[in-house]
Amino acid sequence: MSTISPLLPGVQPDGRAATLGVLGGGQLGRMFVHAAQALGYDTVVLDPDPSSPAGRASHHFIQADYQDENALHQLAAQAHAVTTEFENVPAAALAALARTLAVSPVAEAVAIAQDRVREKAHFARCAARSGVAPAPYAVISSEADLAAVPVALLPGILKTARLGYDGKGQARVNNHAELAAAWQRMGRAACVLEQLLPLAAECSVIVARGRDGQVVSLPAQRNLHRSGILAVTEVYEQNLPSKQVHQAQEATINIANELDYVGVLCVEYFVLEGGTLVVNEMAPRPHNSGHYTVDACDQSQFDLQVRTLTGLPLVPPRQHSAAVMLNLLGDLWFDVEGAARTPPWADLLALPGAHLHLYGKAQARPGRKMGHLTFTGADAASVRAQALRAAEMLGMEAF
Ligand code: ADP
Ligand code: MG
Repeated sequence: MSTISPLLPGVQPDGRAATLGVLGGGQLGRMFVHAAQALGYDTVVLDPDPSSPAGRASHHFIQADYQDENALHQLAAQAHAVTTEFENVPAAALAALARTLAVSPVAEAVAIAQDRVREKAHFARCAARSGVAPAPYAVISSEADLAAVPVALLPGILKTARLGYDGKGQARVNNHAELAAAWQRMGRAACVLEQLLPLAAECSVIVARGRDGQVVSLPAQRNLHRSGILAVTEVYEQNLPSKQVHQAQEATINIANELDYVGVLCVEYFVLEGGTLVVNEMAPRPHNSGHYTVDACDQSQFDLQVRTLTGLPLVPPRQHSAAVMLNLLGDLWFDVEGAARTPPWADLLALPGAHLHLYGKAQARPGRKMGHLTFTGADAASVRAQALRAAEMLGMEAF
């Protein structure tokens, strides 16, 4: 048990309601706010967007840049503990807040997850114990690195070390000439080149680790990406081979322990055609592939984030329903001719086990995450059947 007492909901010694702050106002922050409010906490969100999804759901909202010192002071004055929903929040902002209040995850863990070079080095170190290594890769930060790339890494994927997400900041390259051209296009920024691997499946594992080192984990999620963006997550018995599920869970716990991590951490994996498990990347926060937990588990990934932030007890979460989640991207708000349309919400909600989550974003754009639709039920076959009907009604490709 932790010797530090938890931050309980209710009035604090300073006379104010216990308030949880979040850096970033996107959908992850919005669902964190919902979970915190259910437990009786007040919330404060900092985001530059005046109509951010989390800001609109929160008790308090600070509209400012993440590096705005006055805004960070205001956040520190209003919140009793602070978390982040966005790994590209400057680690320095987290470090500054940590001088006066509880912050999780800590700046150092976020800094590692922000930088693919440091992230891969951490994974390579952890592989000594877990046996789960990253894809073969090379760091490219100079002409000399470029010239030294072994031909065995080609064809490969060039990824910028920083600020990539949803397949952005990536280029597939077949040979040295394409690699050199892609690196030029990326402004010769620090990158990693990874070997292009034959994927049989993709999965992710979410763990929550408390400040006393206790870890709980959620089931391995099977993820389908399209154009580099998560499209479908399926979570039920036998969604993946059990050997790889076990390996991925052990490897994720090891990665969290080796970071001395506090908070919710998601690690993404590839299952290769031969069955080898490869670690891809991590997010120091709840993850899109964990949204099903809100409807299918007795504790969601956001409940776990609240508990790790406040130091409340961690109890192993239990999935009570099979689940399939469909990501609702902005593309669905347009018909084939490109004319604006409203997806058939009422018809979708007539399907058994449908849980619709919309993030309150006013403007739909192709590729923008507008919401998600989770189906829950007693068994995989019936849940998949409803999710496939929904996909057809939405005009999404079957899976
Ligand atoms: P992002 O930060 O954009 O999520 P990822 O590194 O997870 O970046 O890559 C996005 C997707 O691209 C992955 O989910 C996977 O489908 C594909 N991908 C990435 N790296 C590789 C690789 N080395 N071999 C094959 N496919 C890959
Ligand atoms: Mg990814």
